[in-house]
This record gives sequence, C-alpha cells and structure tokens, in this order.
Amino acid sequence: MNNEIYLDGNATTAVLPAALRAAVHAMEDHYGNPSSTHGTGLKARAVLDAARARAHRVVGAGAGRLMFNSGATEGIQTAVLSALCAVRARRAAGEPAGTLLVYGATEHKAVPESLAHWNTLLGLGLDLVALPVGADGRHDLDALRRLAPDAAFVCTMAANNETGVISDLAGIAAALEGSPALWMVDCVQALGKLPLDLAGTRIDYAPFSGHKLYAPKGTGMLYVRAGAPFTPLMKGGGQETGWRSGTENMAGIAALGAVLAALEHGGTFRTHAEQCAFRDRLADALRLALPGIVFNAPFDRALPTTLNFSVPGLSSRQLLDVFDAAAMRVSAGSACSAAKAQPSYVLDAMGLPEWRSSSAVRLSFGPLMDDATVTEACARIARCGKALRLAGLLGEPAAVRPDGLLQLTEGGLHTWLVLDAASGTCAVIDPQPALAERIDTLLRNHGYRVAATLSTRDGASWPATGDCLYLGEQCLRRVAAGQDSLCYLLGPDGAAPRHAFIGRVEPSRLAGILSDVSLPDVFSPNLLLCPATDAQSAVCTLLHAAGDAGPSADMHLDAHALATLLHGDPRALLVDVREPYEHAAALPSGWPMRGRQGITQVSSIPLSRLAGELPAWLAQAERVPLVFYCRSGNRSARAAGCLRSLGYANAWHLHGGIALAVDDFR
Ligand code: PLP
Repeated sequence: MNNEIYLDGNATTAVLPAALRAAVHAMEDHYGNPSSTHGTGLKARAVLDAARARAHRVVGAGAGRLMFNSGATEGIQTAVLSALCAVRARRAAGEPAGTLLVYGATEHKAVPESLAHWNTLLGLGLDLVALPVGADGRHDLDALRRLAPDAAFVCTMAANNETGVISDLAGIAAALEGSPALWMVDCVQALGKLPLDLAGTRIDYAPFSGHKLYAPKGTGMLYVRAGAPFTPLMKGGGQETGWRSGTENMAGIAALGAVLAALEHGGTFRTHAEQCAFRDRLADALRLALPGIVFNAPFDRALPTTLNFSVPGLSSRQLLDVFDAAAMRVSAGSACSAAKAQPSYVLDAMGLPEWRSSSAVRLSFGPLMDDATVTEACARIARCGKALRLAGLLGEPAAVRPDGLLQLTEGGLHTWLVLDAASGTCAVIDPQPALAERIDTLLRNHGYRVAATLSTRDGASWPATGDCLYLGEQCLRRVAAGQDSLCYLLGPDGAAPRHAFIGRVEPSRLAGILSDVSLPDVFSPNLLLCPATDAQSAVCTLLHAAGDAGPSADMHLDAHALATLLHGDPRALLVDVREPYEHAAALPSGWPMRGRQGITQVSSIPLSRLAGELPAWLAQAERVPLVFYCRSGNRSARAAGCLRSLGYANAWHLHGGIALAVDDFR
C-alpha cells in the first residue's frame, strides 16, 4: 500500500516511466560503448547523439555546446574551473579580467563552495562577494551594477530551489553590460518549468541536473556558450570530444533523453497555467488548515511548483512530522541541509525574521503533478491542521489538557514545562526566545496560568515567598547551585524530589551543592537531572550516571531483530515516542503488525513527555524490555540512549523507524 504523496520535487523526483524504459533499453539492448566503431557501439552512439540534439533544442543551445555529465555539482565545478582558468590567462596576458567572484546570496551551496575551492587551489586570490537579494528574493541589480566593472565571474541562478523565486535574468544581463565578467546561470530548477533560449543570452555556462526533472540521479549536462572559455575537469579517453572524459553514463543519458523528448513533444507535463492552479489550491488548503501561515516568497515572482511557508508557533520539525504522519513528504529548506536544523540562509538573505527562516517548510511538486493528487494533498493538509488544533498547537482551545513534565527542545537547548492539569497552573523553566510563541500558544490553548517563569541563571523571577512553589500536589524548590546558577527540585510535597532542573551545571558538581539541601532523600540514586542543553543530555541524566553504559551500538534493532526480541520476551513493551498530533494525522500504516510480530503491549509516550515517565520505569523491580520507535528512528534513539545512560540496559529502539520497518514487514 503506497499512499505516499511526494511533495519534495525540488529535492529530487521519481523517474518518468518513459525514462525508466529508455534506461532499461539502453542497458539491455543498446549497451554498447558509444566510442566503439562496431555496430553495437554505433547504436549506443545514436542514442547519445539523439539525446544531445534534443537537449540542444529544448534549452535553445544554438551554436553553443552541451556535454553530458553526472549532474549540476559537476557542471558547476567545470564552469568555475573554466572561468577561473580564463581569468588567470587574461591576467597573464595583461587583459582586463576583474578581481571579484560574485555569486547570488541565495545560490545553492555548490556555487560558493566551488568558487572558494578553485580560487584557493588555483592560488588566484580573487575576492568572493555575495550579491544581496531583496525581500522578494531577487538579486539587487543596483549592487550588481556597482560590482560589474570589477567582476571576473558572476554566478546567479535561474530559479531558487528553496523558494522558487525566479531571477530577472534580463536585468542581470543589462547590469553586466560592459563588464569583463563571465556569467554562469544555474538552471537546475528551471528545466521544464521556465522557457529557455540560452544562445539568445550572454550566459556563458548553464548547469542542469537530470534528477530534478524525472531522470535518474547522477545524470546532468552543462551548456557552454559558443566561444566561452573552457577547461575540462576530467581528462582521459577524450569522450565528449575531449571536454569530459570517461565512458558515458548511457542509461542515464538515454533516460534524460526520454525526459527531454517529453518536454519537446508536449502533453506529458502540466502547463504553467495548470501548475499555477495547483499551487493556488494547495495554498488555499494551507491557509485554511494553518491559521497565521505566511508564504515566504511572492507567488507572482516564483515557480508555481514551490511553496515555502512558515506558521507562527510551529517549528519546521513539527510541521514535517505531522505531514509525514499523513504520508506527505515535504522538507525544511533544501534537501542538502535537511539533516542540520539551521535557519535557512536563503530566507536570511531575503531579510525575513529569524522565526520565519528557522521554521520554514518547503512544499514542491514537479510538472507531472495531477489533479487527483492535489485533491488528496489538500484533504491531508486539512487533516494535519485538525491534528495540530486538537493538540493545542494552533490558535484554538485543545481537547485534552496535558499534565506533568513537558520538554521542548530547539537548537540544542531544552525548555522545561511543569504542568498541573488539575489546578491549571504551570511553571516554565529556562524558556528560550525561539520557543516563546510556541509556549504561549500551547499554554493559552490548554487554559494554563503561568505561576512562574524561572531561569536557572537568575532567581529574580521566583514568585514564592518561601523556597517552595506549589503546583497542585507538586512542590518546586529553589536551590542555589554555585555562584550564579540555580537549580529547581520537583517532587511531591515533603517527599523526595524526583526531578532536578539543573540548567548548565555539570552533574558531577551537583552532589556537593545538593548536600546542603535538607530534603528527605535528595540523593536518591534515581533523582533525574533535567539539563538545559542537549550536550549534557538529550532528556535526563543522573547524579551518578551509568558512565560507559550510555547509548550503545547494540540498542539499534532492525525490524527482524525487533521481531525476534518481541517473540523472545512477551513482557516487552513497545513505546511509540511520536507526538499526539502525529497520531491524529496518521493514515493507517499497518504498523505495528501485532499478529506478525507477537507484540502484546504498545504504549504511547511522546519524547517530550519521556522525563515524566522515567521515575516509574526506573522504580520497576524487574526491568522489562522497552523498545522505542518513531517515524525515522531519531527520537527513538534519543529515548533508548537516555534509558541506557540511566543504567536501564534493557532499552532498545527501532533503527530507521516505522519508515523502514513498514517496508520490511510488507
Ligand atoms: N543547484 C541547484 C539550484 C539545486 O537545486 C541543486 C540540487 O539540489 C544543485 C545545484 C546540485 O545538483 P546535483 O545534486 O544534481 O549535483
């Protein structure tokens, strides 16, 4: 059952069926080496020539050259090397060459990285300058006009991969009038989405990547204007008339040829007007589902296939998780930076506020999109909105009030919320500015009154007259922890505290500090230390943490190892650490498959609530196996690692998450 809706077309696309057939045909029948002169080779050569001829027509290459390569990153290297070698030669000949390497501030990282790399390798000492963009994401043409006389090489893109913003190439060309600069335009996101007539422009180099338009990964091409300087990146057998040695990737080229044929013949891909209609429907669904949403690029200046947005009070992680639960694949910014939770440099360059740049989500589709998929995507967007509303994360009162301890993590820092549902009061410990909106929405929608906003650095905000602040039955105590730190102990009144919020104090220093506190049993070996940073612990640690018994390689289970473990020990508890809004948005995934895996018990403890659950687990006489799981295996690894470091050796997690396990059990 594949009910996935793939909305990450700017990262990559599936392969067009015709391209797949062409690749298989090239491997099965036309498997020859196009450099061979015998019949088998000639057939391969015909495929190569036909693909190149099509590419020429589709991009309007005119008298320019098109060489096939492994993709845009290679094309960018080749263009940069060619331009810089030309600058070196011009300099040596005493001709005007310019001193600046100018690149758009929102370029794909491949561009500034290659410029810096080759500038250093060639020892040219040229200055790299990021060309600013305006709030609409377009290049600042006045700045370019000022830089143009000194520019040696200018790199801009036709359309941005994060925002879809379309560059004003005619305006850039006009700004470069009279400049000695060579010019590269990254056309990766333009192919199939914007009309191209490269030979009709002064563009010297234009890299393309096949996998952004339904060809396989590892295929691409580079356009070089007739007469533009060229230096091969790879020398060898002289393929591609000596411009790019190495036996051609014929399966990839055949597939790319099939995509180019579809572009040339028309009828396969949606028209611009159809793409705009799809975008408008998706945008309307998003507006309805996610009140307060802001789109981060003006629609009238962007590809209709890219929607980049932020929602006040929601992180991109939360949005991605809820969309993923509904089997809709979107991304936070570009795929290359998806693994790093950082603000988008593209949105930063556009001058957007930090919250928008750090919480942005990109929804992008390819020109093969169809009406039924858009309809289903809109329905799922509504489902996600409803799930977030029920969880109190959007601007409406929530159904169920959460209780106990809640951990919010952003940028490696933890904020802790102590919630008492019965009295409707709570304390917020070490709130981060980046979470302010999220905390505010959450507490407001659940009808919580903030009894105290506390800092482990500064005791000024302590509201109680004594050393104890009551939240229902729970008592929060303030304890000095060295010169400029405070620590807060939480537990039932008069009993041993269960949690200590320790800020940035090292656990090893705490024993001495807490020895002054006259509380029963403060040194309970199970007193859980809740730190302020991820570096101290992902969730909780102990005064006498289990040393080398921390997260370990053997806690990772694949689906089969999991099944073996569950069959071997019927007491095992499967713990789902996803958030409630993910459950509410989820489509039936067939996981966990109780019958097949022998699962008896499944419990739902979101990672954000794990700290509150730990005392009960640690107090068990007999430690049952706990197997954590989540969508991708990230959060479950944190949970299992935490338990292991607390000395709970019987903790495991599903490596690769449900995303992989569902396939394994299919
Ligand atoms: N340029 C742009 C605008 C891109 O979107 C990408 C891919 O994300 C690249 C360059 C690099 O392409 P490839 O991964 O095919 O080398």
